[in-house]
Amino acid sequence: MFEKLNNRPADSLLALIKAFQADERNGKIDLGVGVYRDAMGRTPVMRAVKAAEQFLLDTQDSKKYLGPEGDLQFVRLLQPIIFGKSPKFDHRLVGIQTPGGSGALRIGAELIQTANPSAKVLLGTPSWPNHAPIFASARLAVKDYAFVDLTSQQVKFESVVDALSSSAEGDVVLLHGCCHNPTGIDFTMEQWLEITELLVAHKLVPLIDLAYQGLGDGLEQDAAPTRMILDAVDEALIAYSCDKNFGLYRERVGALYVMTRNVDDIGKAESNMAALARVNWSMPPDHGAAIVRTILESPEMSAMWRAELEEMCERVNGNRAAIAAAAADLAFISRQRGLFSNLSMSKETAAALRAKHGIYMADSGRMNLAGMQPADAGAIVTALRAEGCL
Ligand code: PMP
Repeated sequence: MFEKLNNRPADSLLALIKAFQADERNGKIDLGVGVYRDAMGRTPVMRAVKAAEQFLLDTQDSKKYLGPEGDLQFVRLLQPIIFGKSPKFDHRLVGIQTPGGSGALRIGAELIQTANPSAKVLLGTPSWPNHAPIFASARLAVKDYAFVDLTSQQVKFESVVDALSSSAEGDVVLLHGCCHNPTGIDFTMEQWLEITELLVAHKLVPLIDLAYQGLGDGLEQDAAPTRMILDAVDEALIAYSCDKNFGLYRERVGALYVMTRNVDDIGKAESNMAALARVNWSMPPDHGAAIVRTILESPEMSAMWRAELEEMCERVNGNRAAIAAAAADLAFISRQRGLFSNLSMSKETAAALRAKHGIYMADSGRMNLAGMQPADAGAIVTALRAEGCL
């Protein structure tokens, strides 16, 4: 039967990693794959994670099954970080642990498909390349609309308003809670407010993808749009990833939270989420969530984690400032947030940046600002100028 399969295109970012490793030039710069890097170019295991792993090694006395919902203490301890200290939504919120933000999006999509198969998912483009395929594979119709203009690096807000205003009651709106991937362009709080009003007026359901909390302006600020929306709408889904802000990537740590209109619907949402988890992965992997739980249970480890996350956030924003200072026409980079900016360029230009200048970024023009050092800003700007990007 396998002869009937068609080849799928290889992941272009993985090819980029290999090409970067094979490049022997000094001064090559890796702005490709989307992971945090420190001033030495490493993606370190965070100090609090090491401490929590040591604690687990010393104290964990069983690895027996936990169940499809995973570690519910992890799910509960994360809640105030995302939703704030107010117990306002608590009685209408339910969460499960998932394998990364991807797992949360997958279960979220299937839950929507189960509850309302005719719901469309509104997706602003460009977006994280896995969004549309996840929704499509859960048999949901995706309706995309232009979210930004990469040439001007501006949000196309009329296009956002049009898309939301022309949607049917019950349609789902995918929103990047902070640190938009791939553009780094987040809505202003005024725009978030307008979006919130549109969600309410047209009875739309937000699906908030929060994969970079703490890497934009800090944990609290990055959660502000999510909290504002939840305060106003009746129903919502939040797909959360701990893989970036705890540096746990390969451990696959995330959670899906659902806010229901009525307290009575909580049990239904919970049992459906658990049933969907059961047929996808039976139970999520434990280790990463146990690490996050251990950190959040300990005031010392929590303080260590928060401090290191702040350092990471400051480093990325420092790199943004260095690029902006090196070229006035890249000043927008210092106003964007998170790991990424997406320059408007052809894939030939991205290839020329690699071949002639040793600067590696995705063919789409997405660059990971954590991949550089402030001292690289001059070389990056010179290369972008030489290739006609500025
Ligand atoms: N959403 C966005 C916007 C992302 O960028 C990513 C990861 N690149 C994810 C979700 C998925 O995160 P995870 O690795 O935890 O599955």
